[in-house]
Amino acid sequence: MCDHHLLPDLFQSNQRWAQRIKDQDPEFFAKLAQQQSPEYLWIGCADSRVPANEIVDLLPGELFVHRNVANVVSHNDFNCHSVIQYAVEVLKVKHIMVVGHYGCGGVRAALEDASHGLIDNWLRNIKDVYFKHEQHFRQLSSQDERVDLLCELNVMEQMINVCHTTIVQNAWRAGQELHVHGWIYDIQDGILKDLGLCVSALDQIPSYHAPLPAQLGCR
Ligand SMILES: [Zn+2]
Repeated sequence: MCDHHLLPDLFQSNQRWAQRIKDQDPEFFAKLAQQQSPEYLWIGCADSRVPANEIVDLLPGELFVHRNVANVVSHNDFNCHSVIQYAVEVLKVKHIMVVGHYGCGGVRAALEDASHGLIDNWLRNIKDVYFKHEQHFRQLSSQDERVDLLCELNVMEQMINVCHTTIVQNAWRAGQELHVHGWIYDIQDGILKDLGLCVSALDQIPSYHAPLPAQLGCR
């Protein structure tokens, strides 16, 4: 049996947090328990410095969230696809945002040749993004610049992967309002940036070989 007394700080801070929320709105948890109706699905990195709700200052119930190492949307990831399906078909979210962040450790590891064990198979998704856009990295002199460009490109490719899911495409075919966004977060100043590609219909999906948006690579 797990002994909660080993982690007293977390349970004490939970009690304080719940009380603070109740002080602001005594009915908050009662209302939240009845239903969730978020308008947004956030697909982000598992990095502890990128907490979804806090960054956009939203309360519990306002953001449906899926996080993994380096915000990857892989075609055979049933976990991620199940989240997308529930968000789109049941919750009927209007926006899906893939949110990366500069200095991502997963992206940095994908740029290295070193072996990291099991996770190498996951990072392969990001290595594929690198090899697809390899020519854009040649003019960059520092590894930090390469990491940050790959962070941006990874967001773009993963949001296009969202657009290529049958779930999202079927929603668009059925006339459901659904917008897919690519954002990146800067840990150094807490600011989110829109990478400028929003897809809201089947005929807006960029081709696999479309040129990069001009603003990429300049923070
Ligand atoms: Zn990360």
